[in-house]
Amino acid sequence: MNKDELLKAVLGSGDLPTLPTVASKLVSLTARDDTTLSDVAELVSQDIGLSSKILRVSNSAFYNFPQQIGSINQAISMLGTNAVQSLVLSFSFLGINKSKRGNHFDFTKFWERSLSAAVASKLILERVPKADTEEILVSGLLQNLGELILACTIPGEYEKVLVAEEQHPGDPCAAERSILGADHCYIGCEVARHWNFPPSIYLPILHHHNPLAYTGDDKKINLSTRAIYLSDLLLNIIHSEKPEEYHRRFRAEARKLLGLKPECIEEILDQAHIEFDEAATQFGLKMAETKPIQKILQEANIRLSLLNLDYDQMNKQLVEAKASLENLMKELQEKNEILKKLADVDGLTGVYNNRYFQNAFDRELNRSARNKNCLSLVLIDIDHFKKFNDTYGHLVGDFVLAEFSRILGSNLREYDTLARYGGEEFVVILPETSVEDACVVAEKLRNAVESAVLREGSQEYRVTASFGVSCARPEDLGEIGKTELIKMADEALYDAKDRGRNQVATYGPKKKWFKFN
Ligand code: GH3
Ligand code: MG
Ligand code: MG
Repeated sequence: MNKDELLKAVLGSGDLPTLPTVASKLVSLTARDDTTLSDVAELVSQDIGLSSKILRVSNSAFYNFPQQIGSINQAISMLGTNAVQSLVLSFSFLGINKSKRGNHFDFTKFWERSLSAAVASKLILERVPKADTEEILVSGLLQNLGELILACTIPGEYEKVLVAEEQHPGDPCAAERSILGADHCYIGCEVARHWNFPPSIYLPILHHHNPLAYTGDDKKINLSTRAIYLSDLLLNIIHSEKPEEYHRRFRAEARKLLGLKPECIEEILDQAHIEFDEAATQFGLKMAETKPIQKILQEANIRLSLLNLDYDQMNKQLVEAKASLENLMKELQEKNEILKKLADVDGLTGVYNNRYFQNAFDRELNRSARNKNCLSLVLIDIDHFKKFNDTYGHLVGDFVLAEFSRILGSNLREYDTLARYGGEEFVVILPETSVEDACVVAEKLRNAVESAVLREGSQEYRVTASFGVSCARPEDLGEIGKTELIKMADEALYDAKDRGRNQVATYGPKKKWFKFN
């Protein structure tokens, strides 16, 4: 077979996977010049299951936005049209023909590896200043689309490639070209074109094993292709028999192709396994936990050094190696805890961020329902803060936000959760607290804020804040959830502002959930 014959056979095959309707409509929609954000939002919102998956990922650590994204419209305006399209295509791609079985082609492994490669590509490209990362997820994910297509459309022929690869591991593209007449890069690129994907997606697929072959002058395509090429090297550290060789190559090429600094490269390697596992959860793939890369390298190192030793030496070395491995794991664990904490904390004020709040609130709601306890929520907003900023400047505003959080924190119990909801709004979760008790806490906080004098150098500042309280009793918990409780606290806060600020209000009149003071 030559290239053209192969492509004809693939595109003409009844087994050629197809994209779900929303995904293919979206591709043609975004290819047009006159498409607006709301056209895209409208199309995506038609598929409720898909929309909720996209919102879940948009709100995950994956994008790490400080504020909650509540609608597809909002996701598009915050992440960008291309990023949302990228998520739609990613979910669609991950949903193709999951059950199909090949003899040598392992479909499950293929999906897992594709997702990890997509995440790695994003992790790498995000370290490149000013790079456009909106579409990298989908180009990274689709890099080996050709392999999937070949395994589905010409399984018999492709089997020969897989057997040859197994016997002589090396360059997968070379085996494909000599047996089939073309490689998976070409096939993947052509199928993506056939699906009407834009060049920014199909060209990186074409060149992902040889990024220097792209000679066009589109910066985005150039950088994506390089990031994807590097993602494959990174995955080989984890999955190949020669982790050290790929580690060395990854570091050298990351520096050469993208100009990444050594500390950036180490950060990527340190974080990869955490991000892979997080993405697997977000995208609904059941994947075994990935080992930290440092651990893989250390183990490879031990294997190598054992090859040349006699039995006694080997024993001694093993004991030493085990001890050093344990130390390393402890260090890594500590490092990961710090990283994890950093992702949960707001940089300016040091209190938890909105993302952490959302998760903590879910946990507390479940716990309250289980233990049949009340759960209260207090939403706090500094009064006339815009004017404060306008009068004293943003830097003083920032100082006040930090001091304000400190005052709130020092007036709460250890098991209450204080978080920055966004801007100059804060939120407190009060477990096992009735509405009456929550009002007492809020009043105590209000008083502490009102009477505090915030000193910076010789300057003194004062602020007040308004408080909105909502509460769910155990019997309400089946009926009202997270969104309602936040909404109720927000309405109460609005009330407190409306009645003159610097006061506490509970959720409105004629409400059936609880009594009001
Ligand atoms: P109200 O009493 O109705 O809440 O009035 P307000 O001025 O506090 O409310 P508004 O929502 O109009 O303004 C909020 C202000 O908070 C505007 C913005 O400049 C300020 N702000 C939000 N985030 C930050 C921040 O990180 N640092 C500083 N310095 N100011 C911030
Ligand atoms: Mg305010
Ligand atoms: Mg505000």
